[in-house]
Amino acid sequence: MISNLPALVIAIDGHSSTGKSSFAKAIAKELGYTYIDSGAMYRAITLFALREKIIIGEHVDEERLAEAIDLVMISFVRNNESGKIEMHLNLENVEDEIRGIKVSEKVSVISKIGFVRRKLVEYQRKMGENSSVVMDGRDIGTVVFPNADIKIFMTADPLIRAERRFKELHEKGDNVSLQTIEHNILERDFIDQNREESPLCKADDALVLDNSYMTPEEQMVWFRNLVSGKYKLELS
Ligand code: C5P
Repeated sequence: MISNLPALVIAIDGHSSTGKSSFAKAIAKELGYTYIDSGAMYRAITLFALREKIIIGEHVDEERLAEAIDLVMISFVRNNESGKIEMHLNLENVEDEIRGIKVSEKVSVISKIGFVRRKLVEYQRKMGENSSVVMDGRDIGTVVFPNADIKIFMTADPLIRAERRFKELHEKGDNVSLQTIEHNILERDFIDQNREESPLCKADDALVLDNSYMTPEEQMVWFRNLVSGKYKLELS
């Protein structure tokens, strides 16, 4: 257990499907911080664009998206039954739909558009302005909060990542193949790393966490050691 910690901003970036959200959620729970899933925002805009036929095949009608984006309402809402925070798009709960393969296949195409990024980065900064926050994404330590107190860059072997995501999707009844998932993960990494605007890269002052062979518990031990060392705290 970590106590007596000052109010911090913790930025977690990294490759697709490395378990950033699970790790960020566990940290937020341990510290009593707010967790913000920036990827859910890009996913919600992508779902909107798919539904409105703003994305057709590989083509994105950027003009229509630019006109519509200020009218799109995205919000995080706590589910009263499960206590989980879920993404709502124009007041509809879309938490499950944004995690499916249809959205995953298009989200990197939407997230490389400059005006989409600018809008969401502004929103993310507002959400994190009062500190005590853990945010995960691709550009949190480099662009959204370049002065974050702790920056972590997560990575793992692509096949291990695909197997984990395969298990997760199958448990939800989504029967997508392992090959499709692995292809999607590598494709998203490629687009995210090579886009012009705020490409995915490790911040110079980020610590790398390769969790290929680590359990969630081992990752938390790694985090507790990091924090206790940096802030000279006793762990209880
Ligand atoms: O984190 P998650 O896998 O849900 O993110 C989905 C996609 O959203 C990423 O592949 C990336 O294209 C985009 N993203 C981003 N910047 C962020 C968070 C997510 O470009 N800060």
